[in-house]
Amino acid sequence: MEFRYLMPTEIFFGEDVVLKNKEVFSAIGRKALIVTGRRSAKINGSYDDVRQALSETGVEYVLFDEVEENPSLETIEKGREIGKKNQVDFVIGIGGGSPMDAAKAIALFIKNPEINKDNIFSAGKLDSIPVVAVPTTSGTGSEVTQYSVVTTHKEKTKKNLGQSIFPKAAFIDVKYTYNLPYNITVNTAIDAFSHLVEGYLNTGSTFMSDIYGEKGFELFKYCFEKLINKDLNPEFRKKVMLASVMGGIQIAQTGTSLPHGMGYALTYFKGLPHGLANGILTIEYLKSFKDKTKIERMLNILGLSNLGELAAILNSLIDVKIDITEEEINEYSKEFLADKRKLKKHPEEVNFEDIIRIYRNSLLSD
Ligand code: NAP
Ligand code: ZN
Repeated sequence: MEFRYLMPTEIFFGEDVVLKNKEVFSAIGRKALIVTGRRSAKINGSYDDVRQALSETGVEYVLFDEVEENPSLETIEKGREIGKKNQVDFVIGIGGGSPMDAAKAIALFIKNPEINKDNIFSAGKLDSIPVVAVPTTSGTGSEVTQYSVVTTHKEKTKKNLGQSIFPKAAFIDVKYTYNLPYNITVNTAIDAFSHLVEGYLNTGSTFMSDIYGEKGFELFKYCFEKLINKDLNPEFRKKVMLASVMGGIQIAQTGTSLPHGMGYALTYFKGLPHGLANGILTIEYLKSFKDKTKIERMLNILGLSNLGELAAILNSLIDVKIDITEEEINEYSKEFLADKRKLKKHPEEVNFEDIIRIYRNSLLSD
């Protein structure tokens, strides 16, 4: 057996972890750029907790609260300007995956003034100033991954920056998610589930990463039932957050696979939220496997007897109709296959027809 395992983020999980561990902030830096979305962090208590922790430990801060969903490189450049002007020495991302990923990218752009939206994807490996992450959705696991996914309008898609930016610390307090609306709870939970699935069925999966995958499926056995019954109690919130963290640690080792790569076009061109863009493709992706050994094991842990039962769960949670033509499906498939690196994570041979079939069977009703 051979594997590599890396997860350098210090995780603080539990009630009031931001305030209970406030000295972590002052140990990391003297002045922070706080990066958030436009509204939610100010409402769910996360921004107030971080501000209080910083004030009580003498850390200065400035706020950049303009991160949109699926953050663009233009937003990253704007955040960098504010950080530079204020001479911050670390970045705190508070929110869903969008502000956390933006915080990572901004931290990297601050450290490397020569980098901009036009040359980032051809830059070699770069360092960043330190990042702290405070998740307020249970889905992306970005607080424990090295990835930062950004929108590049020039290339008309979303892309991982291609750098390694693990947060130094992740403060995970599920109370910030208590008022997450049902639809965002579903979308983000499905993202977490798709990380677990794609990490588990990945060429990069190892003994270590599978531990997280299997624990995540066990948590999802409970979470799916609660999601379907719309019973989002604190126990559910805790378990879905844990599942999201499991998925994050797992994909930090393995990467994601076909649904994530194929879903980016659905988000960019059709505006589908990230989790749904993957989730809508998941069943057809699973059906495409010739060797179903690991899929059987996954279903077994989920307490399901066949793929049809999983399809019924996902179909009842994913309620979207998207307008898409055969030409668009052809275009997305061509684009997806143009980058061969995206296929390396899938353990079986797939061709143009297979990709078309996954899109078509998932998206076109006949
Ligand atoms: P998001 O885009 O960060 O946020 C979606 C919406 O949820 C926003 O309107 C946000 O409002 C709101 N929101 C966040 N927390 C809330 C709360 N506690 N209560 C009420 N509303 C809340 O969604 P996400 O699904 O978490 O992140 C998606 C992004 O993460 C995508 O760009 C995706 O590509 C990326 N991603 C990254 C990784 C990784 O490893 N780095 C993995 C998977 C996905 P505000 O804008 O007002 O905050
Ligand atoms: Zn994802």
